[in-house]
Amino acid sequence: MKRFGRRRLLSAGAAAAVTPPLRALAFGSPVQSSGVKPQPLDLKDYQPKSMLHVTESRVEKPRFPVIDVHTHLGFVAKSQNGIPVGEDMSYIWPPERLLPVMDRKNIRVAVNLTGGAGKGLEESIRRYDKAHPGRFLTFVEPRYDRATEPGYPKFQADQLASARQAGAKGLKVLKILGLYLRENAADGPLVKVDDKRFDLMWETAGALEMPVAIHISDPEAFFLPIDRFNERFEELSNHPDWSFHGRDYPGNRELLEARNRVFARHPRTQFITLHVGNDAEDLAYVSECMDRFPNMHVELGARIGELGRQPRTARKFFDKYQDRIMFGTDAVPEGYETPQQVFEDQLYEIYYRFLETEDEYFDYAPAPVPPQGRWRVYGLGLPEAILRKVYYENAARLLKVRI
Ligand SMILES: [Zn+2]
Repeated sequence: MKRFGRRRLLSAGAAAAVTPPLRALAFGSPVQSSGVKPQPLDLKDYQPKSMLHVTESRVEKPRFPVIDVHTHLGFVAKSQNGIPVGEDMSYIWPPERLLPVMDRKNIRVAVNLTGGAGKGLEESIRRYDKAHPGRFLTFVEPRYDRATEPGYPKFQADQLASARQAGAKGLKVLKILGLYLRENAADGPLVKVDDKRFDLMWETAGALEMPVAIHISDPEAFFLPIDRFNERFEELSNHPDWSFHGRDYPGNRELLEARNRVFARHPRTQFITLHVGNDAEDLAYVSECMDRFPNMHVELGARIGELGRQPRTARKFFDKYQDRIMFGTDAVPEGYETPQQVFEDQLYEIYYRFLETEDEYFDYAPAPVPPQGRWRVYGLGLPEAILRKVYYENAARLLKVRI
């Protein structure tokens, strides 16, 4: 249509009939018809308002009760070179402050993935799971700070068994493995994701029926230079430490393939791959992995920005893997620095809107500028049968809880 019009403009007789601004536009020269010269604008100040007139739904409550399999309610207090050290924990909100949000948004269970280890884990379980039975579940974390010590495989397997005894529901593996953990604190080579010293840990998790929530690698753009071609330029400029470009970092695919070798070696262990298998940009690849590994499941946390900009592909993904997709947000109380993860009503409403409605072109995070890239998303309008599975059934089955 546009090309036809342009060709017509360029033909001899028609050109004379064109009004000056339109002709100027057609030939690409600047036009200031109003006489107002636009001022230069910093990218960070640009907050365009969409002029689309489309349906805007507010989904205050989900169609079914929810298990959020990906929250962070506490953290190991000390860390060195990105590695948690010791057992001391710090917490952001007490359960009494989380529960009103959960009740308003019909979140029956919040899974606290970063429950720590040892005494810290016991404290997390006492503070959340035991104080409010049925509302919180806690995962244990590996003692990465001991990983280079002799005897680690046995030590870590024993840690897992006592965590199970203490009430931990699963094991959480942060992206520390593959991107931060080094042989010798800050300087040694990176420990590989499929390093054999963790084999006993993966195997024990399977034997104890503790699912492993695993985050390996990061968005594809985090492995590219932070330049004008990077679609997450603003996000990486705000958090330059999130970049894994250069140095001795492996590529995204190399990390995920090492992860896949772990899945292949431990078929009895169930893996919940966080952030849509950590490659929501490439659902074809995630599908390939899901087909190869029946012990692989996915969770959605902080990735509706990716899923929602490819709604047709995402919808097919949900159809095909509806029994292995779980609801999760990566929510952190007061996580204002990462609005796509802030534990509050508005965040949950965006997830519900994305999954349940066919609304078009809306924000994937409660923020004036889309924080993970300047685009907006489209709802999937999932049918009830799939919503029920994603909201709670799949997680309830894996975590062995009743809703
Ligand atoms: Zn997380």
